Amino acid sequence: MVIAEDVRKTYSSSDGRSHLALAGVTAEIDRGNVLVIFGPSGSGKSTFLRTLNALETIDSGRIVVDGVSLTDPKADLNKLRAEVGMVFQLFNLFQHRTALDNVMLPQMVVRRRPRAEALRRSHELLEKVGIGDRASHYPSQLSGGQQQRVAIARALAMDPKVMLFDEPTSALDPETVKGILDLMKVLACEGMTMAVVTHEMGFAREIADRMLFMENGLIVEEGTPQQIFDAPRQERTKAFLEQIL
Ligand code: ADP
Repeated sequence: MVIAEDVRKTYSSSDGRSHLALAGVTAEIDRGNVLVIFGPSGSGKSTFLRTLNALETIDSGRIVVDGVSLTDPKADLNKLRAEVGMVFQLFNLFQHRTALDNVMLPQMVVRRRPRAEALRRSHELLEKVGIGDRASHYPSQLSGGQQQRVAIARALAMDPKVMLFDEPTSALDPETVKGILDLMKVLACEGMTMAVVTHEMGFAREIADRMLFMENGLIVEEGTPQQIFDAPRQERTKAFLEQIL
């Protein structure tokens, strides 16, 4: 479903210096699989995820999502972004819109769904993510966990082929984390193709098909959860896991 080949990305800062955030990343996500990406802060995890739905341009390399090359100048990036849903650490909801509107409006604008259909689908999705009774609440009236549920419903409303999660639980209270992870497990079990940046290692062990350990813009190690947790090949992976587990 997703192929990334030798992806390089440099950021230039205002003082003219450039910083290599991705130094040649090659990875694949099979249809229906869950890829967990972990590694120290600044290693390029978020940048990599953002390149997969063209939120970041790349300097070189190739990214193909369901047969469509993002680097093809003819690629319809708006269509592609609708097909690759993204869930952020800080939810990124429209603050002045209700939960219902947050899920409904993108369907009407991006997917051009008639209002009645978008409304029906929004209620369905808010039920699915467990906050059917909060449809008329504004984000400020919702807990972090509830806001993240709205954000997940909003992404699902586009009928994405792939869902990207960028540290979706790291801004949440410990007691709400499990609810969001459980919801993500449901999506995984339903066959959603997913890439998840997270340090929730219990979740990774249970749900990931593959795991990537990144450092300094490179993949240090890749494997199944069993390989990564029980027999990491790289000393660096071992040391990092010892720190966080
Ligand atoms: P991670 O998600 O692993 O913490 P990021 O992908 O956010 O890492 O960042 C990788 C590197 O790129 C870091 O050194 C970070 O400071 C830098 N970086 C990220 N975003 C930007 C940006 N918009 N402008 C400049 N540098 C950035």
